[in-house]
Amino acid sequence: MADKKKFYITTSIPYMNAPLHVGNALELMQADALARYHRLLGDEVFFLTGTDEHGRKIFEAATQAGKTPQQFVDAMSARCIEVLKALDVSYDGFIRTSDEKKHIPTVKKAWQQLKAKGDIYKENYRGRYCTGCEAFLRDTEIRDGACIIHEKSVQDVYEENYFFWFSKYAKEVERLVREDVIAVIPEHRKKEILNLFSEEGVKDVSVSRPAENVKWGIPVPNDESQIMYVWVDALLNYLSGIGFDGEQYKKWWPPDAQIIGKDIARFHTMMWPALLVALELDLPKKIYVHGHISVEGKKISKSLGNVIDPFELVQKYGKDAVRYFLLREIPSDDDGDFSFPRLHERYTSDLQNGLGNLVSRTTTLALKYPDVSKGLETEHVLGKSRTPIAHAYRQAIEEFQLHRALAETWKLVNESNKLIEETKLWETIQTDPSRARGTAKTLAENLHAIGILLMPFLPETAGKVLAAVGMTASVSLNAVSHPVQFQKPAEPLFPKIES
Ligand SMILES: [Zn+2]
Repeated sequence: MADKKKFYITTSIPYMNAPLHVGNALELMQADALARYHRLLGDEVFFLTGTDEHGRKIFEAATQAGKTPQQFVDAMSARCIEVLKALDVSYDGFIRTSDEKKHIPTVKKAWQQLKAKGDIYKENYRGRYCTGCEAFLRDTEIRDGACIIHEKSVQDVYEENYFFWFSKYAKEVERLVREDVIAVIPEHRKKEILNLFSEEGVKDVSVSRPAENVKWGIPVPNDESQIMYVWVDALLNYLSGIGFDGEQYKKWWPPDAQIIGKDIARFHTMMWPALLVALELDLPKKIYVHGHISVEGKKISKSLGNVIDPFELVQKYGKDAVRYFLLREIPSDDDGDFSFPRLHERYTSDLQNGLGNLVSRTTTLALKYPDVSKGLETEHVLGKSRTPIAHAYRQAIEEFQLHRALAETWKLVNESNKLIEETKLWETIQTDPSRARGTAKTLAENLHAIGILLMPFLPETAGKVLAAVGMTASVSLNAVSHPVQFQKPAEPLFPKIES
């Protein structure tokens, strides 16, 4: 048998100065859906996530909380893992940037290699710094003396820092992005990045700050007066998370897919590949860039009090409903809006009345025909009328349009509910039992296909849908269906929830 294809996927690592919000949850859901999809294809998957734990903002948040930075990030990271579990995120590796065994030695090793090559050098620097971004800003990122993202005034900073010789690699990185050696998806993000190369010119990038200004981070090897820039430290998690240079690393490197938000696309498509070229390492194959979530039309911000805790959402609606809403309502490759009325609407129409109702009606029907399962023939589960849907579903996922893949799946849900209504099935049972039996068979096959298509997105629900048609979840996209044995779920899949 041929070797399984490997699929190494990463998320960005959320910055632990604040708990995870719904935007972080979206990215984790997207990566999780892709990881599960590739497992369904039969690939061998390694899904890495983790937490970004250094820098001044963390130090300040810890001080405010009356904790040491380490105590603070320990608690924040533990809470993050709880959220991952609540959302059913199927990660294989979790890396923390305060990890002294795997992460810190990797970062130091990479630094020393770059220093030895002369790609890192020390120089006086004057720049405008945003503590929100933890970055020096370009002119285009400043309006009226304030960072355009954080709307906070930038600081004039004059200090001696280490620099990474980005200008030496910029041309090469631009070519890699332009020629899709590193495919930046979607296309409109790729264009933005390519514009940055010309707008921004080819300035070298500051990669450290004086230790007196940043008290919590990885010290520069052989120069404790400097702390590494938090971005350099964080980017290297993709190497340390699989044990840089070790056996795991040899198996999984390079990343097949990296999921990031548009605000950090610049770091991941310029700085990150440049570091890898300098380190003479293989490059990531695809970088998927998602947009931002607004809440009821407004930007998420602490001061507006509209930060949504994914944990609370899960407690009210259940994990699969939250997964469904985020992945269906927010276009994977663009900005989207979160609103409670919309969540409730989707829950009621798509899940409770759509899928839930279909499962309940199909299994009720089957119980009226105990012999129906015997009449079923083995056939390709995604065959016949289901083929165009399965095809569009796969294409949507490959194009990072997860919302479209779910829309395709719901075509089959809606078609099946329509079939019940249009054939007046509950009457047919009385008047034409053999025809009703035929419809039951089609519905069972549809549910089986729906169960499989749902596996990357709503794993718990997929398991219940498959069980309802007598299947287990250990199937693949190319699975063959077996005679089904209906099993009516004891409870509705999606109970009524008060708005
Ligand atoms: Zn900023």
